[in-house]
Amino acid sequence: MKINIADIPRDGLKLDFEERKETLNRVLERDGRGIRVTGPIGCHLLVKRKAAEISIAGYMETRVSFVCSLCLKRFERDVHWDIDYTLVPEQRFVEEKERELAPDELDVSFFTGDVIDTADILMEEFFLEMPIRFICREGCKGLCPRCGADLNQGECACPRERPVDPRLAKLKELKIKSS
Ligand SMILES: [Zn+2]
Ligand SMILES: [Zn+2]
Repeated sequence: MKINIADIPRDGLKLDFEERKETLNRVLERDGRGIRVTGPIGCHLLVKRKAAEISIAGYMETRVSFVCSLCLKRFERDVHWDIDYTLVPEQRFVEEKERELAPDELDVSFFTGDVIDTADILMEEFFLEMPIRFICREGCKGLCPRCGADLNQGECACPRERPVDPRLAKLKELKIKSS
C-alpha cells in the first residue's frame, strides 16, 4: 500500500489491510530457500510522523511454507511478526550513517519523495525476522547422512555409529563439558 506522507494526520494513521502474497513471493523466488507465502498478508500498522521522521509500528501475519533444514520436507506455519520501523529522509540517513548508528537504531531506513510503499517495509521486515534454519518440528531426526533415508519414518540399515573424525570428537567432548 502506498502512503502519501502529507496524508498522515497528527495523531497517526491506523492501517489494517491485506497485502497480496505475490508481493513477497516474487522476491522469495529469487531467495532460493524454497520459502513461499501461502496466505494473504494481514498488516496492522500505525504510521506516525514526527518532524521529518516516519515511524511504522504494528505487526504482520500470514502463513508461510518452509522446507525443513533437516529432513527437507515442506511444512507450513502461521507467522506473526512485529514491525517497529523508522524511516528518515535520505539526506539525514546518510549523515547519521557516517556518525555510525547505535545497534538499536538498525531498523532505520530512508525514503525519498512524498510517498512510502508499505510493500518495501514488509519485505525488509520479513527477511529480518526470518530464522536462519527452519525445523519442521521439535526433535526432527533429519535424513541419514549415508543413504538419505528420512529417519522420522524409522531407522535405516546403515550402521549407527559412524567413525568420527578425532578433531570432531574433541569438539563433542567440549560441548558436553560446557553444558
Ligand atoms: Zn524435518
Ligand atoms: Zn542410512
